[in-house]
Amino acid sequence: MVKEGDQSVTLDLLKQKMAEFARERDWDKSHSPRNLLLALVGEVGELSEIFQWKGEVPKGLPDWNEEERVHLGEELSDVLLYLVRLSDICGIDLGRAALRKVQLNALKYPVSLSKSASSKNQEWRNFTRWSIYGNAFDMITILFGEKCRYRFI
Ligand SMILES: [Mg+2]
Repeated sequence: MVKEGDQSVTLDLLKQKMAEFARERDWDKSHSPRNLLLALVGEVGELSEIFQWKGEVPKGLPDWNEEERVHLGEELSDVLLYLVRLSDICGIDLGRAALRKVQLNALKYPVSLSKSASSKNQEWRNFTRWSIYGNAFDMITILFGEKCRYRFI
């Protein structure tokens, strides 16, 4: 049994909570990858409805009332919880996969090409022209290391 209290919220805690929640209700049989994915997409739709027709919303949501903020938190949570559950059911360690993806994104979008966007626009365009090959380059980097990656570019 997972205890809350002072314990910080981790993906593992959420994973355990969701597994426990499903087991107690005998929902494991309906928590197939496909069903969970469709539920996740449905929750993304509910999240999108909150922003629908509002136009651009400033960061921090300064004009939103408490009820709107609570609702947003609930829908964000629904998305997260289904994502965590889907990952668990598929046998994916979501935390590790996400950290790995951050590393891959750092390789794909180097800081040197991201700063001073206006002066670097052409350089960026040239770089992103290659981005369709990005996943292949990422795989080469993972398999053979950084030096080998640049031989292919
Ligand atoms: Mg919802």
